[in-house]
Amino acid sequence: SARPNAAAETAAPASDTADACCAGPLPVLGRDVTVPLVTGGEVTYAALDYAASAPALQRVWDDVAAYAPYYGSVHRGAGYLSQLSTDLFEQSRATVAEFLDCREADQVVFTRSTTDSLNLLARALPAGCRVFVFETEHHASLLPWGDAQVTYLDAPRTPAQAVETLERALADRDPSPSSRLRSSRGYPNGPALVCVTGASNVTGELWPVRELAAAAHAHGARIVLDAAQLAPHHPVSVRELDVDWVAFSGHKLYAPFGSGVLAGRADWLQAAEPYLAGGGASRTVARRTDGGVDVEWHTTAARHEAGSPNVIGVYAIAAACKALTEAGFDTLVARERHLVDTVRAGLADVPEVRVLSLFGDDAPRVGVLSFVVDGWNSSHFAAALSAEYGIGVRDGLFCAHPLVRTLLGGDPQDPGECGAPEAAPGLNAIRVSFGAGTPDE
Ligand code: PLP
Repeated sequence: SARPNAAAETAAPASDTADACCAGPLPVLGRDVTVPLVTGGEVTYAALDYAASAPALQRVWDDVAAYAPYYGSVHRGAGYLSQLSTDLFEQSRATVAEFLDCREADQVVFTRSTTDSLNLLARALPAGCRVFVFETEHHASLLPWGDAQVTYLDAPRTPAQAVETLERALADRDPSPSSRLRSSRGYPNGPALVCVTGASNVTGELWPVRELAAAAHAHGARIVLDAAQLAPHHPVSVRELDVDWVAFSGHKLYAPFGSGVLAGRADWLQAAEPYLAGGGASRTVARRTDGGVDVEWHTTAARHEAGSPNVIGVYAIAAACKALTEAGFDTLVARERHLVDTVRAGLADVPEVRVLSLFGDDAPRVGVLSFVVDGWNSSHFAAALSAEYGIGVRDGLFCAHPLVRTLLGGDPQDPGECGAPEAAPGLNAIRVSFGAGTPDE
């Protein structure tokens, strides 16, 4: 079975791939959308930008449509529809926990997106917590850490080097005054958090998550997995990977926009101030005689879910988890591998094309890949694919500026306007990405 363990993973045997092809794509919305071409006429739109947002699975859309007439406010009403919605909301939490193979004591917090989830965790860091993050990360993982001391790790060129780099950085961390304070509470060198992606949104390459988690834990640090690109394409087991938290977005997992997940250990989350203050997060609120208010906050996931929850978005995420589980990740992974191999083989026939890779050509990857075409500004190339062929791809630096600059042979510290449409050839890239709904042809 496929696991996000780049160091150990090998290519699927040919027979798996052949079986998977026969399975065909899962039905998604937008299959019949036609778009105009500059050359005249229309063509069926080819969605090759799943990494930005995947089309919703038809099954998810149908489930949501069936539930929509019955939705009501969650945790806030005595009426039948409110009770039903509360039940479905909490059942969705259990479905997500099962999908992620969470530990018994883990909490599933519903957020707006991966970005939101990582910002929530950033607000829950214990005092003096240091953060370790590879410069190759998506900006959602690079940027939310506020006042914490962040160590940005150099881009590794193999999965093994990623583990070595992390181990060295964690071993070097200095005991800080606050860490001495906490040493009796299990942080010998002070609290630390590693944030790592499971699959790159630029190269699609899988990262050695299990090994990175082992390294983090060996040095008394915790780890959060950014599974925005991993969860739609691979099974994610919190237990097996031994990560402390995992974050992902509904709109990349074949559900509509507006809902996401942060799942994992409860202790840091429950010791933190609520992410948003308001109704739903508070258990009791009372006026004090001195004129202020006393608030007792919830100690469940509700602590960070203030306000009326996005019950439709949450229900859709759970529907997507169920649909992917039923389709079977072994089939989905093998099929996607076949698609990515086919595209790579096609691109390899074009001498002007260079596919971007951090870990090398043989690295296992999900259905995401980026390339440049000699002599072409990638933005112009992407615009031509859309206008002349009806193919939707992404161009630019994919919210991972330091990584793309490194892959293009540039300087990860260069703040230049690489993503601008007028950028010179070679300063930005084209990304194609696909998934469960991509047709075989
Ligand atoms: N992490 C990775 C690896 C991503 O690819 C993305 C989105 O592209 C994100 C995080 C952020 O996801 P969202 O925009 O849904 O918050």
